[in-house]
Amino acid sequence: MEITGKCACGQVAFSVTGTPSGVVSCHCKTCQRLHGNYNPMIVAEKTDVVFTKEDGLTWYESSADARRGFCSHCGSALFKQQITGPKMLVAVGSLDDTSMWKNIKNVFAEEAGGYYLMPPQA
Ligand SMILES: [Zn+2]
Ligand SMILES: [Zn+2]
Repeated sequence: MEITGKCACGQVAFSVTGTPSGVVSCHCKTCQRLHGNYNPMIVAEKTDVVFTKEDGLTWYESSADARRGFCSHCGSALFKQQITGPKMLVAVGSLDDTSMWKNIKNVFAEEAGGYYLMPPQA
């Protein structure tokens, strides 16, 4: 299975191989600030994410153990990467085809905004 995605302007593009998890939706306040809402992501191995274009890719260290990848040209929030761990989380909205993805888990639900409904877990 090859999965492809990109930012809104196309200066960051990537493919994901392997078998990433289903969608994990993070409701933490940091994700809400970075994404403007809760953050649905698939969880891949870092080594399975290959950049086909990374001109706009910029990293922001959001905590001691994670950094966020975004496009510095269009502002699309794309990745959460473990700094020492093996995982790379990819924002589902950046994927070209989102039809097969289902939300399997909500995390940091206690920080969820009161203005939206929790997505159901498949
Ligand atoms: Zn962009
Ligand atoms: Zn989060």
